[in-house]
Amino acid sequence: MVSVVVPIFNEAEGLNVFHNQIVEILKNLENYTYELIYCDDGSTDNTFETISTWHKNNTKIKYLQLSRNFGKENALSAGIAASRGDAVIMLDGDGQHPVNLIPNFIRSWEDGAKVVVGIRVGNEGEGLFKQIGSKLFYSIFNSLTKQKLIPGSTDYRLIDKVVRNEFLKLTESDRITRGLIDWLGFKRAYIHFHASARVNGTASYGKNKLFKLAANSFVSLTPTPLYLFGYLGVIITGISFILGITVFIEQILLNDPWNWNFTGSAMLGILILFLVGIILSSQGILSLYISHIQSQTRGRPLYIIDHDSSLGIEAKDSDS
Ligand code: UDP
Ligand code: MG
Repeated sequence: MVSVVVPIFNEAEGLNVFHNQIVEILKNLENYTYELIYCDDGSTDNTFETISTWHKNNTKIKYLQLSRNFGKENALSAGIAASRGDAVIMLDGDGQHPVNLIPNFIRSWEDGAKVVVGIRVGNEGEGLFKQIGSKLFYSIFNSLTKQKLIPGSTDYRLIDKVVRNEFLKLTESDRITRGLIDWLGFKRAYIHFHASARVNGTASYGKNKLFKLAANSFVSLTPTPLYLFGYLGVIITGISFILGITVFIEQILLNDPWNWNFTGSAMLGILILFLVGIILSSQGILSLYISHIQSQTRGRPLYIIDHDSSLGIEAKDSDS
């Protein structure tokens, strides 16, 4: 069986089209039955009524209704936790993730990939702001971290149930699903697709929300921004120290042979710069402690096992 998880928030308008398309695809899968799990993230329109009607007519259509809007990432996690399939496919319910690629995802999985990632190439109907923003995000992020994100990689993904079980062990909040899945590793494959414009309505990820998501990714996946201030502090301390020594020797010890004419307040300026540098560097040291605490509290497992020869089979999976 394959599970399909769709987080959904106020999509009543376009959901019908999406639903008919996806059921058509899932019905015709050759070797698998399916379950389609809608995770209603506290919708305020009649999204939920629509979904529960579908469920009444077809028990393969399942739903979760969250008590309020928890955001897409959390809704997705809820859906993944509820899934029972041998593979779990996650995609958006706004029509931007083409459902006709589902068989391709499954084929890559059958060929041995444990994680299949949808890569978006181009995005019709997306503003310049979002495009530049995402370029900027990836280049900054990748230059700061060891964990590389592939530009255009989306949440349109398939994960094997082994990956799903490992994913569910991660308990951290403020999660970025794709960041966590990337962190888990496992053999992966990529599927490229053109994102179509939303069927209806506007993306509920507005500019503010996207900015928040980007900030969140930085904070939850890398402590590097903290270190940068520390480096800055070290540089400032170094420069002002050298400057201070030079001025001290030239003005006070040698009595200004080169006529620099440093005033008292200029020297005070150098002294203040030096102290600011020290404060910044000590913040950098503080950040080392914070990132240590951060990695402890996230409580991520120390490693993830894919194969284990002593079990003679692929990594144990706790379901079967
Ligand atoms: N979504 C959700 N909770 C939210 C916002 C969005 O479950 O708080 C769902 C939404 O219904 C859609 C998917 O997440 O199925 C992606 O949302 P959206 O299209 O707004 O985001 P974007 O395409 O900009 O990533
Ligand atoms: Mg969308």
